[in-house]
Amino acid sequence: MSDRLYFDWNASAPLRHEARRAILRALETTGNASSVHAEGRAARALVEAARGQVAQLVGAEAKNVTFTSGATEANTLALTPAIETAGEKRKRDKLLVSAIEHPSVLSGGRFPPEAVEQLPVTAAGIVDLHALRKAIARTERPLISVMLANNETGVIQPIAEIAGIVHAAGGLLHVDVVQAPGRIDCDMAALGADLLTLSSHKFGGPQGAGALICRGDIHIAEPLIKGGGQERGLRAGTENVAAIAGFGAAAAVARQGHAAPMARLRDALEAGLKAIAPQTVIFGEEAPRLPNTTLFAVPGIKAETAIIAFDLEGVAVSSGSACSSGKVQASHVLAAMGVSPALARGAVRVSLGWSTTMLHVEQFLGTWNKLAGSLLKERRGIAA
Ligand code: PMP
Repeated sequence: MSDRLYFDWNASAPLRHEARRAILRALETTGNASSVHAEGRAARALVEAARGQVAQLVGAEAKNVTFTSGATEANTLALTPAIETAGEKRKRDKLLVSAIEHPSVLSGGRFPPEAVEQLPVTAAGIVDLHALRKAIARTERPLISVMLANNETGVIQPIAEIAGIVHAAGGLLHVDVVQAPGRIDCDMAALGADLLTLSSHKFGGPQGAGALICRGDIHIAEPLIKGGGQERGLRAGTENVAAIAGFGAAAAVARQGHAAPMARLRDALEAGLKAIAPQTVIFGEEAPRLPNTTLFAVPGIKAETAIIAFDLEGVAVSSGSACSSGKVQASHVLAAMGVSPALARGAVRVSLGWSTTMLHVEQFLGTWNKLAGSLLKERRGIAA
């Protein structure tokens, strides 16, 4: 596998050396983090050190971090009517989510389906702020969930502006920043987020670890898992100390960021795609985007065919989000942006990371040059 080219970082990034070391060290620790003896306290120390590292990544306080099994679970923990603040103990009456959210947000979490409303996005993939203002005006105590950067297109949302609108109307804002760490800033205060979701495996930590981070005065009155009282009673069950330690180590590295080199590679990749096929469409091109993500289509080439052809050539890419690949279905993100189903079926996502080099990009383009030519020829052959 070593000579394969991995261009699917938005689905999962490789494990950082620092995270691997922290995981292995934690696996050598005997003891339950809730036990009072020395072994238990050693396990607890690893969990609490990681909590501090994760908090620092988003400029929060460690006590406001709740560890979960990943972002799907963190989103489900966050999206409940039972969110209390010092000034408002009554239940949230409505959940507004953008139409391009991850399925774990789109599903509405713990809100009843009839209390969930979707907000449209523009053709560029940005939340329609006019629609947001109108929807908020129809509610009393809304919770709003909008992601910082979309996992399929990489389009970045104007979160600080959204936070201003939400707070002026007495609402609370949850932000899924899963695709941001190491790529763009995800400081909680700068974003104006009240609740924020992270996933370890998107930036070099292990899979199966994530966190919900809440503003200090927010209290989630409905635990997600009831039991032994771990994670301040919000999420019971013995902590996965090794995964949490790896998550913390990866968070410490992600604070350094790699945006500038990635943006240069992404720009070279997109210029190369257009040189190979001038009819290439890059989705969300006109919006601010993550420095590592390109979602493109060449009219006439189906994503399934391209992805299998890439895989046979040793290149890993995906069609839209990994969660929906495997089963081939149209991207809800592109549908929300008004992209035609025919063009959306051709959408291939290429995502880069900290170890991607210009040589990898050139090799990728060399492969695509060969494949695109033959896939288009095949199609012309069928049509003829
Ligand atoms: N939110 C976004 C934006 C994501 O990209 C993903 C992963 N595809 C998730 C949430 C879910 O993360 P996890 O795998 O940790 O459950």
